[in-house]
This record gives sequence, C-alpha cells and structure tokens, in this order.
Amino acid sequence: MSFVVAPQPTTEITVVGSSDTFPVHRVYCVGKNYADHVKEMGSTPDRDPPCFFMKPADAVITNSEVPYPPGTKNYHYETELVLAIGKEGRNISEADAPNYIFGYAVGFDMTRRDLQMGAGGIGHPWDIGKGFDHSAPISSIYPAADVGHINQGRISMAVNGETRQDADISQLIWKNNEIIAQLSRLFLLKPGDLIYTGTPAGVGAVVPGDKLVAAVDGLGELAIEITSPE
Ligand code: MN
Repeated sequence: MSFVVAPQPTTEITVVGSSDTFPVHRVYCVGKNYADHVKEMGSTPDRDPPCFFMKPADAVITNSEVPYPPGTKNYHYETELVLAIGKEGRNISEADAPNYIFGYAVGFDMTRRDLQMGAGGIGHPWDIGKGFDHSAPISSIYPAADVGHINQGRISMAVNGETRQDADISQLIWKNNEIIAQLSRLFLLKPGDLIYTGTPAGVGAVVPGDKLVAAVDGLGELAIEITSPE
C-alpha cells in the first residue's frame, strides 16, 4: 500500500537555538486587529466578533525570495507577530493561553488587495485575496522558553529602507491570549498551528525588486525581496 499520488511535504520552520524544526499544521489569521489599520481600510474598529480567516499550510515560506503572485495589480504587505502553537487544546482560557504558545515569529500576511476587496465587497470569501501560494513568509521561530511572551514592543517594517509600518504590539485589539481563547472555541488547536495576529497601519503595495525588512522587539528581523512572477 502506498499513495496514489506523491504526498506533499510538510512545511518546516527553523527554530532559533535548535536543530529541530517546527512542522506547520494550520495557518490561522486575525484581520482588523489594530484600530489604525481598520481605519485606513475604511472601516470602524470594533471588537466583536473577531475576524478570523485561514491560509493553506504550504503558503508558508521561509526563503527570502518571494515571487510576485498572479492575478493582482495591488499586491500588499502586512507585517504581523505570529504565534506558534505547541500544544493541543480547545476551550482554552485566557489565563492558560500562554501555555499553548511554543514560540513567536515575524511574518508577512501578503495580500492581493484588489481581489480581497473585490470578493469582500460582493459577500465572497477572502481566500483568493489571502490564501494564495507564497502568501505567508515567516522568520525563524523564537521559543517562548528563551524570549518570554511577547505582549508589547515595537513592530515595524521598512520598504527599501523607508519605514512604512511602526506600531506597538500592545495596540492589538484582540490580544494574543484572547485570540487563543476565541479560536479554541471554534477549532481544535494543534501543535504546529500558526496564528498571524494582524497588521498595524501603513500597509501598501510592492513590486518586483522591492526589499522588505520587518522587525518585532525581542525577535529578529524578517527580510524578503519581491521577485519576478513565477
Ligand atoms: Mn493580516
């Protein structure tokens, strides 16, 4: 007995200080989670309900070259703190949530903004705007056991050396522990899950040749270059 077609490989992320890797299971994302970004998108910030969406696990990439995707004329970066889940759980309390976080990373929720807004405007799902190939670049994962828990600190991003996003993790509308509590009421969280927690204001379009460097205090940087379409 074998597979009738070749199984796709598990996406792996390097872990700082370890020779072992983090195997990606699911990729959850939180939208509309910094007030200034909600406003720049033309909406009014509110808390309930949280805006959750997903990307496929193989959208996660760890290489520094990110090909410009097909089907868009408005390809945006969104710089985000990413939670890496290390333990299975449902109905997790906010107080217990830190125990489910293996570590943290810096990520980009790359977005085909024209397709996202077009789909949302007619009541369609966001998948074609959010869940495409290579849409989730990520840094190495920093274990919470080493860096502590990241609930505040600067999150920033520069395009070609010019700062475009500059905010503080403490400005999250839904905090890390609340996100885990809310998500775990809707899904069984599993080791290997990633949660992209949302982007601050300053999103914008990029084109091939642009160099993006994102940083979160306490974690390292994530540097990527947008390359020609595949
Ligand atoms: Mn986002």
